[in-house]
Amino acid sequence: MFKQPWFIALLVAIILAIALLVLEVIAHMPTPAAISHVACNATQANPCQGKILVFSKTGAFRHQSIPAAKAALRKLAIEHNVAADFTEDAAAFTDANLAQYDAVVFLLTTGEILDGSQQAAFERYIRAGGGYVGIHSASDTEYGWPWYGRLVGAYFDRIHGHSGIVQATIHVTDHTHPSTVMLSALWVRTDEWYNFATNPRGSVHVLMTVDEKTYKGGVMGADHPIAWYHDYDGGRAWYTALGHTSESYSEPLFLAHVWGGITYAMGPRPRSTAKALST
Ligand SMILES: [Zn+2]
Repeated sequence: MFKQPWFIALLVAIILAIALLVLEVIAHMPTPAAISHVACNATQANPCQGKILVFSKTGAFRHQSIPAAKAALRKLAIEHNVAADFTEDAAAFTDANLAQYDAVVFLLTTGEILDGSQQAAFERYIRAGGGYVGIHSASDTEYGWPWYGRLVGAYFDRIHGHSGIVQATIHVTDHTHPSTVMLSALWVRTDEWYNFATNPRGSVHVLMTVDEKTYKGGVMGADHPIAWYHDYDGGRAWYTALGHTSESYSEPLFLAHVWGGITYAMGPRPRSTAKALST
């Protein structure tokens, strides 16, 4: 039956169709190495204020708020004339590449996302005076890398988990930090409230606590830190557990809180003026 010309023609047509389909799928696959850039347009009146890397790779749960969060950080970077690169490619974690950034933001990361050499490069980056920002599930990341756990300050409590998305009251206990200076003593907002496996107070500087009497699901008691910062291993680390929902990234106060954390992690100005000129 293979001698039938119509059958051969049909076979060729099917093979061509499959080949075209495969090519089409390959062409539309996301490139793992993709980095999207936000340039800072330096002028004499408004010089470039530095450069950040926003890393949102997920090895476990993936928050639906990632696109909204990235869009918000993109807008904040432009407003503050800070250059920003956005990627989910762990290959960005090399000595040479990390050296150009004033801070690296772990935005809604989860799970195991860096290999051993990438972890080592990030440790060297922090030891050389680099900055780290962790947002929400950044504490639900890299459980097998104890240095990272100390950098963040505390891991998410996988046994007791988190609350539903509910309203709660935050006590802002330190108003002197760039990430809290705009907040009043009580901050009422809706989010998913994390418990932590350990209380980080003692190894970090706590900025705010969430009041467990104002929502259901808290198991840390009267002292439940929810955002903090510290000098760590030669660099600076800032973490906020807020930011589960997409709506968070349209809240002016939450965005000011996050940008204040990024400003702290980037370090004193004009640290990166020389670098800024080459971006
Ligand atoms: Zn969450």
